[in-house]
Amino acid sequence: MQRRNEDMQNNKVLLTKTVRANNLLLQKPWLSDLLLILLWMAMWRVSGLMEYAPHASIWFPPAGLSFAAFLLIGPRALPAIMICAVASTFGENIIYKTGYGWLELLRSGVLFGTAHCLSYWFGASLVNLFIRRSGRHELPQVILAFLLIGPLTALLATFCGTQALQLGGIVTESSVNNIWLAWWIGDLIGIVVLTPLFIGAISRIYPRSGAWLSEMGLRQPDVENYGYVMKLVLSALLLILAMTATAQFHHQETVFSVFFLCIPQMWIVYTESPLRGAISLALLSTLTAIGIKILGLNDHALVYQFAINVLAASTYFGLTVPVLVSHNVRLREMALEDGLTKAASRSHFFEQGEHELQRARHYRQPISLVVFDIDHFKNINDRFGHTVGDNALLAVVTAVKQQLRQADMLGRFGGDEFMLLLPGNNLQESMQTAERIRLTLMQLTLHGTISGLAGSFGVVEIGSDETLMAAFERADRRLLEAKRTGRNKVAVSA
Ligand code: GH3
Ligand code: MG
Repeated sequence: MQRRNEDMQNNKVLLTKTVRANNLLLQKPWLSDLLLILLWMAMWRVSGLMEYAPHASIWFPPAGLSFAAFLLIGPRALPAIMICAVASTFGENIIYKTGYGWLELLRSGVLFGTAHCLSYWFGASLVNLFIRRSGRHELPQVILAFLLIGPLTALLATFCGTQALQLGGIVTESSVNNIWLAWWIGDLIGIVVLTPLFIGAISRIYPRSGAWLSEMGLRQPDVENYGYVMKLVLSALLLILAMTATAQFHHQETVFSVFFLCIPQMWIVYTESPLRGAISLALLSTLTAIGIKILGLNDHALVYQFAINVLAASTYFGLTVPVLVSHNVRLREMALEDGLTKAASRSHFFEQGEHELQRARHYRQPISLVVFDIDHFKNINDRFGHTVGDNALLAVVTAVKQQLRQADMLGRFGGDEFMLLLPGNNLQESMQTAERIRLTLMQLTLHGTISGLAGSFGVVEIGSDETLMAAFERADRRLLEAKRTGRNKVAVSA
């Protein structure tokens, strides 16, 4: 109890702080741009530490950040990212002591910035368009669009970026040929692995931007930490083991053991929230990049880059599985049940009914069919409105179900007409059931609107060589006879 109070208190403090930070960012929009610039430069610096050739980083997180920024805030991200692109071009000059003049660097920086910004703006706009076209912010569509467009955007950014640097005179044609693949895969990893986390960061830096985040489960609160931390530690140990073995044994094949990482990562994806799946993906890929640097595995950098991409793609497809499963369950329910009353749908009733009929014949047992329709139901809609009418249909089904045995089946033919299959009941017994239901309906009341409903019933015992549909038509004729001869009665046919 005390723990719960403390948790609630902590949540309240956190919420107040978040609201205050949001207000500050809303009042001073330039502060958001400054934070984006700082985050981009920090990510660029981290990626610089993992460069294994000039402009060829094992992974390039700024690409993911630019993609997320254009995805969420569109052209509003342009000035900040342009400043970063120019600043990073100057930074590369300092790190590699290339000695270019500032005018040359400025020109190359602007060219690179334009190529980078236009490519990622274009790619992010395509993803946005795809999501809007598909009409719903649903995880499988978002992920599919992201996985299709993300890599192509990284390729476009690589082509334009390398051409821009060549045009600026900072890299030669031959070095473009050497670095383009690593550049592309590095950008691709930055996008595929880190965009989900950066989307979270951008939505905090720009408070007006992240409306569809919570729908993707990226803001889902997590409850229990211990199990998740253990899974993370286990995955990290497996990765360290695989990389150390590669560094130790120098067998070309050992490097492929890194693909085993998919197993614990899938375990996390299937048992934890989408946010936790995205965090573990980001952590494992960071650890891989650090491992390559520390253990001197640059020769295998491309294999590791591909492994991280495979891990990311499996993670995203894994994230969509629970959503697809729940869609399938829903579709199945829709096919089997009537949406309003949850009685069996017409098609399911006849399909399942045929099986029951076969079973009854096999065991030489009687089986009967009752068809009933509420009398003057239209009057209820006219007097009280369709919502009361819907509630009345629901109440009918609930009341009828209470009168049935486990083996009986209730279906809705359509409108206010229902059917009952009564295995094991002969004509006499099913007539008694119909009469009992008729009396039950007459007792039915609904919040001061309906007091008692009348129904007309047609009852038949299904013949030994009769189909269910033929029996239904016979019962329906009896029902019409009951309607014609005064309603609120049970009409029987031998
Ligand atoms: P009768 O005694 O001859 O059966 O007269 P009735 O007024 O019940 O007329 P009928 O059975 O021919 O038509 C059923 C009416 O039930 C038509 C429609 O207004 C209403 N209805 C059908 N489906 C629904 C539904 O899902 N919800 C509601 N509220 N009304 C429905
Ligand atoms: Mg009716």
